[in-house]
Amino acid sequence: MCGHSEKLAIAFNFIQQPPPSIIQISKNLRICGDCHAATKLITKLRRCEIIIRDANRIHHFSNGECSCQDHF
Ligand SMILES: [Zn+2]
Ligand SMILES: [Zn+2]
Repeated sequence: MCGHSEKLAIAFNFIQQPPPSIIQISKNLRICGDCHAATKLITKLRRCEIIIRDANRIHHFSNGECSCQDHF
């Protein structure tokens, strides 16, 4: 049931020039496993930080890791 809106938001942020080092996204629903894994990968590849506030908690992604330790 995930619309993957966070992926779109992340893609949109990367179009900006200069690219931001920290991206913040708010979600009304819980993040899904697919998006969680994809976001971790992006932070590792792009060396940026991504903060996603979902219905349950705040996920702070940095260098391929998430502050929730994959408990979401
Ligand atoms: Zn998703
Ligand atoms: Zn997380």
